[in-house]
Amino acid sequence: MKDLSPHALAIRPSPTLALNAQLKARAEAGERVLNLCVGEPDFPMPALAARMAIQAIEDGESRYTDVAGTLALRERIRRKLREENDLDYRTDQIIASTGAKQALYNAFFVLCGEGDEVVVPAPYWVTYPEQVRAVGATPVIATAGRDSEYKLTPALLERHVTPRTKAVVLNNPGNPTGTTYTRGELEAIAEVVLRHDLYVVEDLIYEHFHYGEGKVESIAALGTPLRDRTIVINGVSKSCGMTGWRVGYSAAPARISALMKRLQSQSTSNVTAVAQRAAIGAMDDVPWTALAAYRERSESAYQQLTAIEGVDCPPPTGAFYLFPDISRFLGDGGPATSDEFCTQLLEHTGVGIVPGTAFGSPGNVRISYAAAPGVVAEGLELLQKFVVSL
Ligand code: PLP
Repeated sequence: MKDLSPHALAIRPSPTLALNAQLKARAEAGERVLNLCVGEPDFPMPALAARMAIQAIEDGESRYTDVAGTLALRERIRRKLREENDLDYRTDQIIASTGAKQALYNAFFVLCGEGDEVVVPAPYWVTYPEQVRAVGATPVIATAGRDSEYKLTPALLERHVTPRTKAVVLNNPGNPTGTTYTRGELEAIAEVVLRHDLYVVEDLIYEHFHYGEGKVESIAALGTPLRDRTIVINGVSKSCGMTGWRVGYSAAPARISALMKRLQSQSTSNVTAVAQRAAIGAMDDVPWTALAAYRERSESAYQQLTAIEGVDCPPPTGAFYLFPDISRFLGDGGPATSDEFCTQLLEHTGVGIVPGTAFGSPGNVRISYAAAPGVVAEGLELLQKFVVSL
């Protein structure tokens, strides 16, 4: 038989989803599992979102909507971007998509293709390089170190730009790093972006999980030249505990948005009509109290983790992950790699965390504190015992 598409064959499966499935299977088989791999918050969706979804069903909202989403949803997103991010977009520049994931895919598809390069800072969220490959372009991994809290720096970006570079990915706050770019850092990156005429794919999905001063800044808000080359990605999945509803969105320059919409019109069309109404309710009823509790969670998890001798981790300023360097515990008869470290930890203690190899950072592991606080505390205690036993 003839070979399948090289683009499809180049895509690797998501290691985090595979690990989660493995942990679920163990739990279902009766094993005690402490799952610190989770990529979704544990609080319920906003009550108003649920009510509006029910109302939408009762109103018979069962037809196609505009491909980019109802005007009501896009007006609400527009207001959110203006009020929270100092970004002024017209509603025709906004597209609701099936989760931030589809919005990202639309963006990469429209920006680049065969022969183009996209700079993906590592440690990266697993999906970026795979989506870049899926559209036939090449992800160029720019590995950031502990000294910059695993964030891209202007010098690092500069070193990875070639004449083929089309775009750079910015994830703020970062998964898996748990760190946040300051305005000053974004300004310095913006200078390189402008000088090399790059596009920016800016993923703000963890924006509301922020533990630093002020708010999370968008690079697009640094002025018109930046806004004209940035695709802002966001959604209600994380901040409103609505990962299963699949509502994300993009805001971009009109020419780019028009093509993203065209692609979506030929792939999935609109986000489920009922989910769109739920998203409006969610944006009117953001669970700020539950979000604020994540600041305390981040602090106590960080204290507990860094009390383990030999573990080095940047202070968490965003998202809900800790990303410690555990390379000190590798080799010398112990686990040889972070994959082995995580496998042994799971076998010996039932604690599930993600090896850094999944994120292009083999000396680290990712620990999520989005699980119930008791589970996180016990998981970290078992991690400490495991490390001492090595
Ligand atoms: N962006 C980042 C950095 C993520 O970690 C995730 C989910 O894990 C997403 C986007 C996907 O968001 P959604 O569920 O809205 O597709």
